[in-house]
Amino acid sequence: MIRVLFAAPQAEWEAYRGPLACAFEAEQLDVALACDHDPAEVDYMIYAPDGPVRDFTPYTRCRAVLGLWAGVEGITGNPTLKIPLARMVDEGLTQGMVEWVCGHVLRHHLGLDAHIKGQDGTWRKGAPPLAWDRRVSILGLGVLGAACARALAGLGFDVAGWSRGPKDLGVIGTRHGEDGLEDVLRRAEILVLLLPLTEATRDLLDARRLAMLPRGAVLVNPGRGPLIDDAALLAALDEGRIGHATLDVFRTEPLPEGDPYWAHPRVTVTPHIASETRPASAARVIARNIRRAQGGQELHHLVDRESGY
Ligand code: NDP
Repeated sequence: MIRVLFAAPQAEWEAYRGPLACAFEAEQLDVALACDHDPAEVDYMIYAPDGPVRDFTPYTRCRAVLGLWAGVEGITGNPTLKIPLARMVDEGLTQGMVEWVCGHVLRHHLGLDAHIKGQDGTWRKGAPPLAWDRRVSILGLGVLGAACARALAGLGFDVAGWSRGPKDLGVIGTRHGEDGLEDVLRRAEILVLLLPLTEATRDLLDARRLAMLPRGAVLVNPGRGPLIDDAALLAALDEGRIGHATLDVFRTEPLPEGDPYWAHPRVTVTPHIASETRPASAARVIARNIRRAQGGQELHHLVDRESGY
């Protein structure tokens, strides 16, 4: 009998218990799944940063922590975590992000607001450019960034991306390193942020780098709030150097009432809903990983604690 602790908020328990039971059965794993096992008896932990566990020390027998979130900045710095940590890579999460990013990029590319918000009885002609005349840059070419880059390139956009190490993504122009970052920023009419939050990426989009974007560029951030220096972004928006920012993630969430982003005419706020882990597909990922660990194989989607993602 494998004891698996579900260490996430109660509402998640209701959504996940059924799919996890099915997935464990499909993997022929004999699992006792609960939210309240004796810590010393837990074999694996399914974890969310907004769940009850802060101190991993009592989980003396636990072999691995399986995160429900793609972003792991809330746990990588925890000194009590000394066992392997796998993050969530889920096809439902990826599909959701592709849809959200393509939707917001198309909104800005097509100038949809002019018609949705600006319908005033005036017959204004003027078609938008085609996608191949629109340069989109994506910072972060991991699971989510690469999927969005491929989808946008599939729509015809002229896509380039940036990652920590070199990458080959076919038709998508890829860059890395500090010079590469400048290249992708200088060309970006629409910039999408899909980087993880680490010590190296915090405040990456500061005043100097925001100034590298072409005048009127649009910023779309479903990555993490602290990737951007908020004061620098607000100044660039006020001056019109940045044409619009669509922001899904923030330094403080929920975004506090009265935050300047809420009322800014060049900002769209979405409440961290770009994408989320989907219980049915995520349960299969977790069950497969536990089967791997039980068979002595390395877990999929292991987090490198040193690089922080
Ligand atoms: P991955 O770990 O698969 O990809 C991360 C990418 O960022 C990689 O391409 C990596 O480069 C690059 N990167 C990391 N550090 C640096 C650096 N210092 N300089 C340049 N590039 C860097 O993550 P995912 O694609 O799965 O997820 C990305 C982020 O999306 C998550 O961390 C999370 O913050 C956010 N997210 C937001 C959601 C929302 O609803 N708003 C939902 C889910 C995730 P390399 O390939 O060279 O390693």
